[in-house]
Amino acid sequence: MTSNEIRQKFLEFFQSKQHHIVPSAPMVIKNDPTLMFTNAGMNQFKDIFLGNAPAQYPRVADSQKCLRVSGKHNDLEEVGHDTYHHTMFEMLGNWSFGDYFKEDAIAYAWEFLTEVMKIDKQNLYVTVFGGDEKEGLEKDMEAYNFWKEHIDESRILSGSKKDNFWEMGDQGPCGPCSEIHIDLRSDEEKQKIAGKDMVNKDHPQVIEIWNLVFMQYNRKANGELELLPKKHIDTGMGFERLAMVTQGKQSNYDTDVFQPLIAEIGAISNTKYGDDAKQDVAMRVIADHIRTISFAIADGQLPSNIKAGYVIRRILRRAVRYGYTFLNLHEPFMYRLLPCLIQTMGKAYPEIIAQEKLITKVIFEEEKSFLKTLETGINLLNSKIEKVKQAGQKTISGVDAFTLYDTYGFPLDLTTLIAREQNLEVDIDEFQKELEKQKERARQATNISTGDWVVLSNEQGNAFVGYDTKECMVSIVKYRQVTAKGKTLFQLVFDKTPFYGEMGGQVGDKGYIEANGVKTTIVDTVRENGLIVHLCEKLPETLDTEFNAVVNTKSRELTECNHSATHLLQYALQQVLGSHVEQKGSLVTPEHLRFDFSHFQKMTDEEIRKTEQIVNQLIRSDYALQEYRDMPINEAKAMGAKALFGEKYGDKVRVIKFGDSMELCGGTHISSTGKIGFFKIVSESAIAAGIRRIEAVTSDNAEKFIFEQVDTIATIKELLKNPVNLTKQVEQLVADNAKLQKQLEAFEKQQTQQVANELLKSVESKNNISLVVKEISASNANALKDIAFNLKNSLSSFIVVLAANVDGKANVCVAVSQDVIDDYKLTAQELIKLMAKEIAGGGGGQPFFATAGGKNPQGIPAALQLVKNKISEL
Ligand code: ATP
Ligand code: MG
Repeated sequence: MTSNEIRQKFLEFFQSKQHHIVPSAPMVIKNDPTLMFTNAGMNQFKDIFLGNAPAQYPRVADSQKCLRVSGKHNDLEEVGHDTYHHTMFEMLGNWSFGDYFKEDAIAYAWEFLTEVMKIDKQNLYVTVFGGDEKEGLEKDMEAYNFWKEHIDESRILSGSKKDNFWEMGDQGPCGPCSEIHIDLRSDEEKQKIAGKDMVNKDHPQVIEIWNLVFMQYNRKANGELELLPKKHIDTGMGFERLAMVTQGKQSNYDTDVFQPLIAEIGAISNTKYGDDAKQDVAMRVIADHIRTISFAIADGQLPSNIKAGYVIRRILRRAVRYGYTFLNLHEPFMYRLLPCLIQTMGKAYPEIIAQEKLITKVIFEEEKSFLKTLETGINLLNSKIEKVKQAGQKTISGVDAFTLYDTYGFPLDLTTLIAREQNLEVDIDEFQKELEKQKERARQATNISTGDWVVLSNEQGNAFVGYDTKECMVSIVKYRQVTAKGKTLFQLVFDKTPFYGEMGGQVGDKGYIEANGVKTTIVDTVRENGLIVHLCEKLPETLDTEFNAVVNTKSRELTECNHSATHLLQYALQQVLGSHVEQKGSLVTPEHLRFDFSHFQKMTDEEIRKTEQIVNQLIRSDYALQEYRDMPINEAKAMGAKALFGEKYGDKVRVIKFGDSMELCGGTHISSTGKIGFFKIVSESAIAAGIRRIEAVTSDNAEKFIFEQVDTIATIKELLKNPVNLTKQVEQLVADNAKLQKQLEAFEKQQTQQVANELLKSVESKNNISLVVKEISASNANALKDIAFNLKNSLSSFIVVLAANVDGKANVCVAVSQDVIDDYKLTAQELIKLMAKEIAGGGGGQPFFATAGGKNPQGIPAALQLVKNKISEL
């Protein structure tokens, strides 16, 4: 069975058990502050488990793209070294939302594995939660008894809280779980140690393939558990592991999921998989990471210096580094794997086909710049190694290794490897301490404490009514206190709300709620796990009452102008630049709009102007907003509405149409384009390889922008006495200025020469040394230096000390010829030091030339006298 067939079998099986098949959610998460990447199939159903949203179907199943490289689940360091953990993998899962529970979940899993996939029962083991005294929880006998009907009791093992109790986070839904493990070892090995003793022991051939979670409790903020009113099933099975088992392989990398990639890497690097253990690791790392990076970029997460972008960047660098060290790949190579990846995965995930050019470009640029970083790092490390050796030591300090790692992206194992080649060690302990310190700093920065929700009513809903009204009566359903960075805010959830919660780049609404004549300011509105949450600095005095909720209309309307203009902008860009323009990010505030999109070169002035003209034409056409709520997604797409890659859409979507511009969008919009008034681009720039950013203003802010520009021009005109042709006049001014500058320089040169000549006439001498020790007048410090240089060039053996009062400050210049330095051990720096106190300042330079500045020009004669005294001693 091919892997594509296996995925299909899974979905068909659960469809036959009345499950609704849903698409994978994006791997990159955009609207959850607690999670950067999808790390399990259940993530997209969090709202349902938390009771914030009703389930659309009681039973669903899917294959979900997951990424485990940060936070609670981080397998990155294992990947490549073992054969069954990936960064990105597909998780097959089935869910019951308050429908079936343990009995059916167990029966389905068993039927699928043993009857559909025909896996030998003799190789399977299962675990159940064995209880936990501290939590006051008993062994999960329910699960045990259901398993007993399918599998021999000797194969049902008890597990600890660590392996067999699943929790969503510090708070929220949790419950016991049951894992299914497979033993793929040879009969001979099975004879030696029984499979049941190998379960959960990190053996590469005795591994977990499926986890069935029985959600039955809720953990409160104080740590207590309470029973959930509705019990749920959440299961997850590793698709690549299932493929390995079904295809009779010993490693995920030997399946058809990875073999084409491994072969391609072999061809590029001229190595053969299986020849050398270290090279095999590198090939696995690269085969794994190219999937992660490509899918992350397709989902809209570009490599960058912060947060999720930084995680992706580090994964890419890890792959490049393994290629560099173990496969001798010193030129960009990852980007060359894309055609192969598309061959194997493009059919199931068309987003990587559609964005091949962007993905390739981004990876290529990242590789190129990291290879440069590697070179810089290697040079830096070599100089450290030199120093350590010179000092007769044997260890590179952990601090140095950490700087290399943190500032230059230079991995520790590479530092260690290079050091070892030079018979040196790296202080790993110290490195770890530095790393810990950095992690602690990051933890402190994101320390958030969240209280339990205080529930005031069981009202469900929390509907957004703000598309139609900016003011309505609401009541508080629940609230809680949140403290972050020492600041305490309250979060309020209403039964319904006119406030827009930040989403899709549009900022949240501000405003107030009012009851009994008392107003409470809403400082921001956000979304969390499907809830619209209103933030305020202080709770209303009476909570249990009706409030009039009022959105700040002016800033909402300005925001709407910018949001609608963003749609028009995207439409115009596609007209002007082409259909490859894809939205890659957007921010819509009352003040301005920011739009990031894929495009491969800087926009020309003509293209920018053309775009502005199209948008303004659409504004003047005054298209009325056409809004379709709850349109089936297929219908919307058929109509031609633009969907975004990496965005999660439900079955029903909202479509926003202005003329020919049509997008899936949940944001709020102006009622007709004419209200936008005027649109003006204020900047166009690059933010990453293949991604451009436009910033623009509309309405009041566009007017303000234009007024400022006009005022600036008016001021210039006035300054230039209202010339007929302003441009010509400014050009003339610039040209005149350049000419004058040149003349001035020539004049200054002449003057310098003259002063030098004058000085030469009065040269004194001692022991055949020419002496010029004088206060002169000079217009600036440079002129003084020039005069000194001039003298230097005309004399052979000399001491030149020139001082001048330049704008009330003392400036001194000293030049001494080499023979004076050699014969009398007298240097320019020494003379400067001698004078420093008198002029109340200091300076420095080299033995043959030094300068100083000081606050006290009155001290110049005394300073020069000191020099003269010194010379008289020679
Ligand atoms: P393991 O102990 O093997 O790391 P886990 O306990 O972390 O597994 P779960 O969180 O229960 O796994 O995830 C459900 C299933 O997803 C696992 O049974 C396994 O088949 C698969 N899985 C988990 N992590 C990975 C990974 N990094 N790469 C591939 N498959 C994975
Ligand atoms: Mg794990």
